[in-house]
Amino acid sequence: MIQKMSQVPTQLFIDGKWVDGGQEAVPVKNPANGETLAEVSQGAEEETQQAIAAAKRAFPLWSKKAPSERAQLMNKIADMIEEEADRLATIMTLEQGKPLKESRAEVLTDVENFRWNAAEGQRIYGEIVPAPYDHHWLVRKQAVGVVAAITPWNFPSNMIARKIAPALAAGCTLVMKPSKETPLSALALVDIFDRAGMPEGVVNIVLGSSKVIGKVLTDSDDVRKLTFTGSTKTGQLLYEQCAATLKHISLELGGHAPFIVFEDADIPSAAENLLAAKFRNNGQVCTAPNRIFLHKTIKEEFTQVLLDKISSITVGNGLDDPDIGPVINEDGLKKIEEQLEDASNKGARVLYGGSRLTKRPYADGTFFEPTILDGVTNDMQIYYEETFGPVIPLIEFTDVDEVIAAANDTEFGLASYFFSQDLQTISKVARELDYGMVGVNEMAISNPAVPFGGVKHSGFGRENGKYGVEEYIDVKFIDINTQLEK
Ligand code: NAP
Repeated sequence: MIQKMSQVPTQLFIDGKWVDGGQEAVPVKNPANGETLAEVSQGAEEETQQAIAAAKRAFPLWSKKAPSERAQLMNKIADMIEEEADRLATIMTLEQGKPLKESRAEVLTDVENFRWNAAEGQRIYGEIVPAPYDHHWLVRKQAVGVVAAITPWNFPSNMIARKIAPALAAGCTLVMKPSKETPLSALALVDIFDRAGMPEGVVNIVLGSSKVIGKVLTDSDDVRKLTFTGSTKTGQLLYEQCAATLKHISLELGGHAPFIVFEDADIPSAAENLLAAKFRNNGQVCTAPNRIFLHKTIKEEFTQVLLDKISSITVGNGLDDPDIGPVINEDGLKKIEEQLEDASNKGARVLYGGSRLTKRPYADGTFFEPTILDGVTNDMQIYYEETFGPVIPLIEFTDVDEVIAAANDTEFGLASYFFSQDLQTISKVARELDYGMVGVNEMAISNPAVPFGGVKHSGFGRENGKYGVEEYIDVKFIDINTQLEK
């Protein structure tokens, strides 16, 4: 394993060079067994300022390149990521824990992001607006400038690709800061950009204290946009910090997705979809279904299908490709335990699982049993807080309006799902769910071609699709008066 890791750079990448930061290196651990995978170099204010300066110098060069030239490099990067997908997937599984098949799927989504945005970057059309004679009214779309990108650990590769690909396509340059839990996937991607021939300064990566680096990035007037994916709490702080420099900002924050099964739903299909979505990345997904609303008439049948299937869910080291890997760290485990304890104290019943796994082969990792919790009510923490773990909380309902109100009773508004075969129900519920995304008889709602993002405390701005590119663009109006005095 260490040998595989040795192929990954462990330094900062600034102005086209791998450099050591001035702070003490920190270890990156494998959550499946606690092993140290690598020691990663750390920087602080100085390195972040250097990275911003490099991105600023590179901006005129990169933004003036023909869109087709930028696309050519992005397509080359996509090809290289595809060729190296197995290696990148192994790195991700080692540092993040998810099963290899999921890591590989994530890496291949990066490939799609790069190809889709390479093409879209060539279609950032402006407008010619009807104008008085002798005037030309032009609307130009121009890259915003230097972008700061801060990303979380749960999708350590794709959260980066989703930001970098549209930003590069629009002509922006970047300073990235990945999570301390999973820097290796980010470094491996940047290594590919470097080998693909990315001009120096276009993409820079800084590692170190997120508080320090975040402050330098948000305080800088040279950084014109912050794109952030992570918790609502950190998003709120960064939003405040960006006020003084009036940056463009997009925030992809937490979620608490409702999953509603109506009485006319296809029960086996809904149950299968729920298990797949809930246990993807061990429930550590901002779009994971977190409150499972079941109509009274089908609740028993649905619960039985879940119970029949859950016992076959395998838990293990992601390298062995089980259904579920470890939770990211001890704090993650504690949060799950606290929510379960609180719910149990208030009357909920654990129907399956409910504990961390401590015996061999799980002893040195951070593993939790797949869990079903029944009788969840709105006085419990789990009803309102993200779990980020493999827990299925069941809630009963009887009426459409009641369940819509309950589903909307949250500060979050990212993803929502429901299963029904009735057209009236589909039409009404899809409109009235207060979320950025609604999956109807479908859970796979994320795709490079369609907008992804939330409302309320799940943030604002969109990633993916043409909306994702627009986040990196300023609109400029040009009025040309051709009625020149003779
Ligand atoms: P987090 O603690 O907010 O961290 C996210 C990123 O912000 C990390 O790179 C972190 O760096 C950095 N950070 C933390 N404090 C900072 C500060 N004061 N200034 C600047 N940067 C700071 O979130 P997380 O635990 O990594 O990720 C899980 C959260 O992300 C969940 O709430 C999940 O729902 C959300 N998420 C949302 C989406 C979406 O698209 N809406 C997608 C995925 C995840 P360090 O780790 O190095 O401290």
